[in-house]
Amino acid sequence: MGIAFIRPLAEIKSDPVIAALPKADLHIHQEWSPRLDRVLARREGRTSYNWRHLAEQLITETPPGMPRLRYLASVFPVARDADAESENFIARIEDLLDEAAADGAILVEVRFGNEAVLRPDFMGLFREAERRVQKRYPHIRAEAIFTFLLGRFDRDRLEQLLQASILAADQGLAGIDFLYEPYDTEADWTTAYHIAERAAAVGLGITAHAGEFSTANIAAALRVPGLTRIGHATQAVRDPRLLELLATSGVTVECSLSCNVVLGAVASYTEHPVRQLVESGIAIALCTDDPVQICTTIGREYTVAHALGFSPAELLAVTRNAIEVAFTSPERRNELLTLSQWDDADSAGMETQSSTLSS
Ligand SMILES: [Zn+2]
Repeated sequence: MGIAFIRPLAEIKSDPVIAALPKADLHIHQEWSPRLDRVLARREGRTSYNWRHLAEQLITETPPGMPRLRYLASVFPVARDADAESENFIARIEDLLDEAAADGAILVEVRFGNEAVLRPDFMGLFREAERRVQKRYPHIRAEAIFTFLLGRFDRDRLEQLLQASILAADQGLAGIDFLYEPYDTEADWTTAYHIAERAAAVGLGITAHAGEFSTANIAAALRVPGLTRIGHATQAVRDPRLLELLATSGVTVECSLSCNVVLGAVASYTEHPVRQLVESGIAIALCTDDPVQICTTIGREYTVAHALGFSPAELLAVTRNAIEVAFTSPERRNELLTLSQWDDADSAGMETQSSTLSS
């Protein structure tokens, strides 16, 4: 099919074949306040915060890149104390997983920032949310990732967060992520390298945010010990050397098409380099990043990619690649690979016109 023009916040009708595809979302933030606002609004019979209105405002009135990200990150419809209640924490994770599962996600890796890993029984509460959602969607599997916000915490606090992550790894924490502040200028990644070495030694998967709004930090992120994935790297296509480096590294790029458009990393969906990344030999995953705030879902991201020319077979291959590089146990990986086999998807009504599907 041809490449369609899609407005940034357009509601797109989903194709039944795309809707039926098994999906994975490897890059989705907890969005604790927006999610909890949604949960509490339902409970209290009120309307939740209007993120669509804010996103429209961002696109029309705020300069692209960091100004939009900062604006988005400054809005908290619910205050922190409500999140301290365990039931509220579980309910907002359920909300996130339910939404993904309803769109066909079989794997979701949720990112927790700030100091979430210090929360008492963090992994226990996370698994409780997963169990509750599995009663409605038996196939869904969820994993948790802790994001180190480097530049926000001092050395002692980072050490405390690392030790808590290492302890949580025993209880099922799947991986860690790095996000440097400032984000769009070159940072000194020495601290990340030290943290990554110790995290990888206890089996935690490693990913990092880099290259969303500028080419800064992509090369440095690729030198993180144990790194197998990178969030965004949208700007790598501006520099052929970086693109080559990314391709030879073998890391998977976690692409968040709508987030990149709404925050202005790219000017439009059609200008997103996702196809160029694939043609350069780079493996990708499709992700939502901040779906409540930027008004998307994993089903919508796959639908957008389909409109940009990705065939159902290519999209299934994207899911299968995401499962291959997921931070999950070998048992779960095998289960998920079985669930996303071509035969199963084919019997759901897919046409087998592409040869890009691996085995
Ligand atoms: Zn992100």
